[in-house]
Amino acid sequence: MTYKYINYDKIINKITKKGNLFFGDYIIDPYQNCEFGCKYCDSTFDKTIYIKNDFLNKIEREIKNLSIGTVIIGSVVDPYQNIEKNLFITRNLLKIIKKYDFNVHILTKSNLIMRDIDILKQIKNVSSTISIISLNENVSNYFESNVPSTLERLELVKKLSENKINTGLAIIPLLPYIIDNEIEKILKQSIFFKANFIIYKFLELKGFQKKIFLDYLEKFDNNLKIKYLELYKNNYYPNNLYVKKINDKFEYYLKKYKINKN
Ligand code: SF4
Repeated sequence: MTYKYINYDKIINKITKKGNLFFGDYIIDPYQNCEFGCKYCDSTFDKTIYIKNDFLNKIEREIKNLSIGTVIIGSVVDPYQNIEKNLFITRNLLKIIKKYDFNVHILTKSNLIMRDIDILKQIKNVSSTISIISLNENVSNYFESNVPSTLERLELVKKLSENKINTGLAIIPLLPYIIDNEIEKILKQSIFFKANFIIYKFLELKGFQKKIFLDYLEKFDNNLKIKYLELYKNNYYPNNLYVKKINDKFEYYLKKYKINKN
């Protein structure tokens, strides 16, 4: 993995779209590109991880001029890259967020978030989300081999919740057909591991990423690839019929088990 420093004009992006999935007002990504290499993710094509020059000073200059709101960290790139163990950029970002009384929603797959539990606990309004794609370890071992196992991530949800961090479980991306018969089981596990809410988002297949993902999928299960070609024939999103079927299933079980959905 190569790391490079890079100049940036603006670090904090304001969200203008209403009803965004991660309930926040601003987006900050401490790193650009991700070294974890999940096969469905386009943050992983470029093998260079960019570190933003003068990141913390710039954040401090920008945040002063913003009205207080919720900062989403990690919606594009995991904020706990391996190099974060030495650089402490995400940790110091959380300190700045606390200093200026902003709220935070942090998303990750990494246990390294526990290192920063002391600061997270001091932020007035804090949420975290840990994502998985399946309870089947064969699936996660294939599609996301460089991140903690699904069980470790579920245990992470529990640890964060037990530390009084409002923590949710995300199924992102929701991989069509792979997940269909697991929805109830995952929701039951979310209760067992003390998740306070559920988020899910269907896999999107755009441009070059579509070809790369389908090539991986073919090696995993060629029949699935054929089904995906049909499902994504007219759009980067699964067809409406399929989406409705899965949404209905979620609605049914979320209601049945009284689970909050974001
Ligand atoms: S950890 Fe997140 S950002 Fe990194 S490759 Fe996987 S899905 Fe992408």
